[in-house]
Order: sequence, then C-alpha cells, then structure tokens
Amino acid sequence: MIFQEPPLDHPVEEKIQWARHYYQLFKDFLLRDEAVHALLNQFEKAARLSREAMEAAGIMDECRVCEEDEGGSCCGAGLENKYSAVLLLTNLLLGRQLPEKRFDPKGCFFLGRTGCSLLARHVICVNYLCKKIIDGIPSNVIADLREKEGTELQILFRIHERIKDQLRAIDEKTKRTIEAVARFYDHKMVGHLGPLGFRRSTDLTRLVECLCHLIHQGFLLPGKSLFLDMGCGDGRVNVLLSYLVQSSIGIELDEWTLDEYIPLKKELDDLLQGRSLLIPPDNIHLFHGDSLDKGLQETILKKTGLGFHDFHLFYTYLTMHEEFAALIAQKARKGAVFMVYGLDKIIPRFKGLTLLTPDKPLAGVIALYQKP
Ligand code: SF4
Ligand code: SF4
Repeated sequence: MIFQEPPLDHPVEEKIQWARHYYQLFKDFLLRDEAVHALLNQFEKAARLSREAMEAAGIMDECRVCEEDEGGSCCGAGLENKYSAVLLLTNLLLGRQLPEKRFDPKGCFFLGRTGCSLLARHVICVNYLCKKIIDGIPSNVIADLREKEGTELQILFRIHERIKDQLRAIDEKTKRTIEAVARFYDHKMVGHLGPLGFRRSTDLTRLVECLCHLIHQGFLLPGKSLFLDMGCGDGRVNVLLSYLVQSSIGIELDEWTLDEYIPLKKELDDLLQGRSLLIPPDNIHLFHGDSLDKGLQETILKKTGLGFHDFHLFYTYLTMHEEFAALIAQKARKGAVFMVYGLDKIIPRFKGLTLLTPDKPLAGVIALYQKP
C-alpha cells in the first residue's frame, strides 16, 4: 500500500492530520461512491434515532447534570486513542470538524465546549452507560436503546470497511497513474540527444523504482513528506512526486524551461482524464530563480509556508550537487534526505551528510544522503 493509515497507537494529532489530508485528496472520489454515499445517509439517520432514544430515556439530561454540576464525565483524556484515522475520516465525510487542540486538559481530545465533536463514534463511546443510569431506567427502554445503537454501529462498521476498500482502489489507481505519468514524460525526455545536451531530464520510470524504496525505508511518508526539487526543469519530477507528498515544490533557474511546465501538464491532464486516471493534486508550486538564493527561499516561505528547514526530501539532477549538499548539511532538518540523480560507479561523499547508498546508486542512478 502507498497510503498507509497510521497505526492505532500513533498520536491522535497524526491521525487527524492523515484524515484531513486524505479528506482533501479523496473526498470527491469517496462521496461519489454510491455505497459510501448511501451508508453515510443511513448512518446519520441511525445515529439520530439512537440520540433521540437517549434523550427520551432522560439519559442526556442525567449526563448533563453529572458533567456540569457533579464534575463527572465519561469523556476522559486518552479515550481519543481508541479512534482510527479512517474513523476520523468518516467524521469529516459526515461534515464534522476535528478539533485543532484539546479543549479540556483532563478530557478526551474530541470533547469540546458543547460536548463531543464527533458523530461517528467508537463502540465504547456509543455503548457506555454508568451503573447509576442503567439502574434508573426500565430494562425495556435500555433494550430498545441498545438495538438502535447496534444498528448505528453495524452501519458504521460497513462504512469503515467500504472506505478501506475504496482507499485500496485509490492506491491501485495511484500506482497506475504514476506509471502513466512516468511514461508520458519519458517519451518527452530532453537533452539525451541533440542540441539540448546541457539540459537533461530525469528518467521517471527509474525514479519510480527509487521512490518505492524510499517509501519502504520510511524516508518518504505518503501524504506527509515535503519535497523540494532544486533545478526542477519543466516540473516533471514535481508532478510525479505530487501524488506522494504533501507539498511538491520546485525551483528552476532557466525561465524558458519552466515555461514548458504548463503546456506539458495540460497535455498530461487531458491524457489522464481520458484514461480515468487521477490528475495531479493541487500541491505543486514552482518558482523561477536560484536555489541558493536566500531571497527566493524567503519568497517560497511566504507563498507556501515552507522554509528550507521544513523539507524532508531534496532532489537534484547532478547539477550543483556539491553546493546543494552544503546547503542541506547547514540548513535542512535532521533526518532530511538528499537524492542526487545521474550517478554511476563513482559516488561522491559530502561533508555533513551520510551516504545511504555506499555500494551502488538506487536503480543504478540515484544516490541517497541523509543529514544525521
Ligand atoms: S454515563 Fe454516567 S458517568 Fe457518564 S456522564 Fe452520564 S451520568 Fe455521568
Ligand atoms: S464521546 Fe466523544 S468526547 Fe467522549 S470520549 Fe468519546 S470521542 Fe471523546
């Protein structure tokens, strides 16, 4: 899988970030799915019926008094850890907002000023009633409530499974799209023959091989990593990476090379749409200028919110690699990875960076370095 859901034991902030990111990327795809659409509608109705049954039984009033006057609550800190990222994505698809930060230091992350911010809730949150409540309500009323909650939870389980199926389908589609993007640009390589020998394009098919390695090694976190191509040419590497990273930023010195980005991308978009593949997400930002120029780095920070220190992955096609390596060693974050394309048997070493591929370059062409 490219798009791995964060494990359950990861921090809630990471799961929220994942849910928001995948909501942005795939909400149209998911909401257009008839099964997801129908199940979400059924769920809203079922959740409303459960809630009405709780209100009719007087449980909501009891809990309100317990929370406001008696200082009791079932929503303690730590319960948010029960929530999977897909369950949070479900809440976004239901139109709920996820909180930015914890409202009550002793409370669950999702507990807001007016109660729980979620509609699709974990079985523990749906089912739990304390002894005081259970003892005070007739058993037939509790049984009726349990039945309604059971329906709510069954539908939620089906939504969860359907979304996971759809994400697997997106994963497959993304892989097919990435291959198509690589083939499209590889048919339009520049510089290997003819008068533009000084300007060379990355072989994207070979780059794809390396990206799989980077994902498996944890250097590229799909949907999370921030990518900077220093010398992006017509933006082809940025387009390829846009499917895999949160932001794909490129800098190119030659304005006329950069001018090729728009017409090429337009041609690519038409081709992808014609084949029902995914068009590149709206996370590509290309800049004209010198990658070493501090002023340009400031401009990028202003326009994208990303400073040099924020990027996780840097890339260059064997130009200025020594200067870029020195800049990365000096200014990049710890753990940042520098990919240098175009190497063969002789692999240079850079002061301040650890060579991760000492024996041979990945796919015979890319060396990886890391800032320790
Ligand atoms: S279920 Fe019981 S403990 Fe929890 S809020 Fe309601 S009354 Fe209080
Ligand atoms: S009901 Fe909502 S606020 Fe309470 S523990 Fe569950 S998720 Fe948290």
